[in-house]
Formats: sequence, structure tokens, C-alpha cells
Amino acid sequence: MPFHQIIGHRRLLSLLSRAIARDTLPPSLLLAGPRGIGKRRTATAIATTLNCLRPAPIGALAMDACGECASCRRIARGVHPDVVVLAPGDSGSIKIDEVRDVLDRTHYRPFEGRRRVVIVDDADALVVPAQNAFLKTLEEPPSASVFVLVSSMPDALLSTVRSRCRPLRLGELAPTEVAEILVRDHQYAEADARAAAAEAGGSVGRALEAKGVDVAEAREAAQQMLRHAARVADPARRLDAAKDFAGKAATGSREREHLAVRLRALASLLRDLGLLAVRAETPSLANADLRVELTRLSAAFDGDRVTRAFGAVDRALAALERNAGPKVVADWLALQL
Ligand SMILES: [Zn+2]
Repeated sequence: MPFHQIIGHRRLLSLLSRAIARDTLPPSLLLAGPRGIGKRRTATAIATTLNCLRPAPIGALAMDACGECASCRRIARGVHPDVVVLAPGDSGSIKIDEVRDVLDRTHYRPFEGRRRVVIVDDADALVVPAQNAFLKTLEEPPSASVFVLVSSMPDALLSTVRSRCRPLRLGELAPTEVAEILVRDHQYAEADARAAAAEAGGSVGRALEAKGVDVAEAREAAQQMLRHAARVADPARRLDAAKDFAGKAATGSREREHLAVRLRALASLLRDLGLLAVRAETPSLANADLRVELTRLSAAFDGDRVTRAFGAVDRALAALERNAGPKVVADWLALQL
């Protein structure tokens, strides 16, 4: 991603861009700042601009990548041989062997780019011996290499590592910037993005996580809805359950998003019930942790009922998108399950 496509951080980005244009970019950088604000993207933009085949000034930026040449595209896909990303694996840490491998490669000239860029994402996850292995290289980087350490907890790094890097601090994003990113990169509707951004403390990461928390709660609500529908046929009592399912949220747009998340959870459970209904040997369920509960529910939800219910959830989601009221949608759905 070129600099001009990054939302927010204008001052810092134009400073980086100018340093690249004048060839004064320090070879070891530490991008620090809260989680989920675009540090990794900024690191990638540095690598992209350094290696773009057609770099050019654009607007207030003294130099920026084109975003379209072969080099830009390979970096975006993560397959450029000279842009190396180190990040913690399943263990949650970055081991010394991984660091040694990367450092060995930096002794050679770049394969095809102008600069080799090593991005260390979550650099605070470097184990101490790995940090020590970096020290000499950070102090005297090989001439064609740039090291960009990225961290939301820079204080967890050894002071000897910190002191060898030029620190650059990225601040929180403005709520309008968070909303803009949610719409552009995460398919949020305008109103939902604004609502999510308002509570995200300037972090796209936090906005996305908040959505994740909703998912667990939404799945619980969806399970309850199915349990109730399996037991109760009386329409009046079905509508009581609908009231719980629609839930209570502060504003209209929040309420709609809230119900949409629950509906998607319901669709996911119904898809699993569909798999159980066709008696696949050991179907791989999306909600595998709920296998016992789902097997119990499958006694009431045979194939036909699952298909009808699934179609109803689909129509309910479409109605919500057309701005139907959440309460009306939930009521209607409760009678269809
Ligand atoms: Zn390019």
C-alpha cells in the first residue's frame, strides 16, 4: 500500500516520504503507537516506496509508490524477495533462529529491489537472545538494508535495541478516520462505521475486536432462539423470544448492526444443523465446540426445516439492509423458524 492510501498520520507520512525522496531515511526505525492504527501498513508503505519501479511525488508527499507496478504488487501480496516480514508465530514469540536466517540474507545485495526492507511486526515479541542478535546489525546495517521495527509496547524492548533505532510515534486516529477505514477496508455500512468508530478510542483494531466480542454474545442469543423455536410453537410465545433476540441497543443504526450480527450467527448455526441433518459422517462444523448442543437441536430441525429457516434468515438480513426496523424483522423471523 502506498503512503497516499493510508488514512491518517499525514504529518508523519510526509516526513517519511521526504526522507525517502532525499535519501536520508535512517536505516533502523521503530514505529511505535497503540494497536490497530496502521503501524504495519506504514512499514509496508516504506518498503513499497523504496522499491517501487515508478515512484513519484503525489500531493503533499515528496515521493510515493505507484501501487501498480510489478514490485508494488508483489509487496502487497507478500511475495517480494527483498521485503521480509518477521512476526510472532503460534508460540507468540519471534525466535533467535528466525532472526539469524533473516540477518544472513541481509549480507547479500537485494535480489531485485533497490533496498531490502526487514519489517519486524510486534517487535516486542522478539525473545531476548533474538534482540541481542539484532544489536550489531541495527547499529551498522548493511548498506542496502532498512530495518523497520513495529511495536505497540516499545518499552518491552531492550533499551539497547531502542537506542539503535530512530523512534517514530504514531498516534490514535480520529474517529472519522477510523470510520473511513472501516468502510473502505472492512465493508462496514457508513452509519455502522461511525457508531463503531465512536467507541473505538482511535483504533481500527479495537473497533474490529469490539465486533468480535459481539459475535460470542450473538452466538449465545442465536442458540437460545433455536432452542426456543425447537420447543415452542405458540406464536405469542415465539414473539416473546423475538424481543430478546432483537435485544436493546442505544441507537437505530447500532440496533440494526447488533441484530445483523446475531442473524449471521444464526445462519452459521443453521448451516451446521444442515450438515448434521444430511448425516455426513463427521461433518466439519463451523461451531464445532457446540457439537453436543447442535446434535440435540438437530432432533427438532430436520433437513426441510433447516432449509426453510436458513432462507428466512437470509431474507431477514436482506430486509435489514433495506432499512426494515429490527423489531419487525425479529418478530417475522421468530414465526418462520
Ligand atoms: Zn510501484
